[in-house]
Amino acid sequence: MTYIATLKYKPTIGLEIHAELRTNSKMFCSCKNDPDEKRPNFNICPVCTAQPGTLPVANMQAIKNVVKAGLALNCEISRDSKFDRKNYFYPDLPKGYQISQYDMPFCKNGFLEIDGKKIRIARIHLEEDTGRLSHPEGSDYSLVDYNRAGLPLMELVTEPDIASGREARLFSEELQMILKYLGVSSADMEKGQMRVEVNISLSKTDKLGTKVEIKNLNSFKVVEKAVDFEIARQTEVLESGEKVIQETRGWHDKKEITFSQREKEEAHDYRYFPEPDLPPIHFEEKFIDDIKSVLPELPQQKRERFTKEYSLDEKPIEIFIVNKDLSEYFEKVASEFRAWLDAEKIKGGDKLYKLLANYLISDTQGLLQGKEFVETEFKITPENFAEFVKMIYKGEIGSKVAKMVLQIMFNTGNDPSQIVEENNLGQMTDESALEAIVKEIIEKNPKPAADYKSGKQNALQFLAGQVMKETRGTAKPDTVHELLKKNLQ
Ligand SMILES: [Zn+2]
Repeated sequence: MTYIATLKYKPTIGLEIHAELRTNSKMFCSCKNDPDEKRPNFNICPVCTAQPGTLPVANMQAIKNVVKAGLALNCEISRDSKFDRKNYFYPDLPKGYQISQYDMPFCKNGFLEIDGKKIRIARIHLEEDTGRLSHPEGSDYSLVDYNRAGLPLMELVTEPDIASGREARLFSEELQMILKYLGVSSADMEKGQMRVEVNISLSKTDKLGTKVEIKNLNSFKVVEKAVDFEIARQTEVLESGEKVIQETRGWHDKKEITFSQREKEEAHDYRYFPEPDLPPIHFEEKFIDDIKSVLPELPQQKRERFTKEYSLDEKPIEIFIVNKDLSEYFEKVASEFRAWLDAEKIKGGDKLYKLLANYLISDTQGLLQGKEFVETEFKITPENFAEFVKMIYKGEIGSKVAKMVLQIMFNTGNDPSQIVEENNLGQMTDESALEAIVKEIIEKNPKPAADYKSGKQNALQFLAGQVMKETRGTAKPDTVHELLKKNLQ
């Protein structure tokens, strides 16, 4: 369906993304900014509940956070800006207006590259979040919690450069990662700390079609699905000769469809005007430069560096990009290698880095049983992990033993060579001892031995398996095969 749609009509898609900013206090008062507070109306004060006579004071940390995000997203930072009042009535908005930014946002004209395609960012501005309404089931009243009212909220608006559900998802994912790397927002979609809204229209010509808004998209997957569904739905509507209605649609999780929430009456008139209780804002060049100078490495820079420094493939790199703790751990272990590689005069360490990535990604993740890697909870020190990988690299332990050693290290945090010694797991180097075991296995398994002699290759595998079992994986598989063949002649 989607395929046909993209052929017949050109989708024009823009995103509006809100992210709650990480600060100590709320946007315009000193109440705690704690998105996890469960007690309703706990973090509130006269300012964020709009008592008469109170005045807002802008949160400097929130402003810096938005500028940081703007710089990371290639935006121009406005030297002069201001806050505005956006007037509308809703019970979760105690003041009857929201302090936001209208015509002079802090950041504009940026872009973010996804898959080599530039998605332009029209603006990023700062505003305050609203409270939260809840409607207890079966009751004839609603409840309001103002803990969230007045939390600093960043709003990013893209140009309509997105052409598919996939692009919408990639953009949102990359943005989330950037916000996390910058430390400006936790940007957790499930907790509503990051909210994505989609504007989408279809057209055959250059004239834009009727715009539909999709709200309440609570995961990246849903963003992709909702966009693709909407492209297909609007195509069907247009194909049947009908008109797309301008409306706001929601996403139905179970049915996996969008559904009409409300038709747009007219464009809202928010009667914006400059916030009289806050002075206009002027940024000195130095203020912006200072923020620029402390920007951390961003996901894309990290991708490029990991490719260059460690010669890893795209897949493991992407896992490291998403899991910051895991990648930092990887780099600590990798730096242990560097000294060793220098001392041993080994050129490059590609194989070591690949081994390390493998053991960190597949085996360690397996031991974590789906839990996220958190370095402070991880018992293996980078030094021990480095030693462990070196032992594999040097052939001191085979892959089977490695698994056992890693398991013990994971549980105890012990030194790998000590584990190998204590459990007698070192690679069997005594060939005559190994040959004795090989002979014993052949004797104990006359049928497979005869099968092999009559040309059944599979039988050799079975016998080799028995030898490995007997030696608890400490024998070299190649040597076992050689000795078996020799003794089966
Ligand atoms: Zn307050």
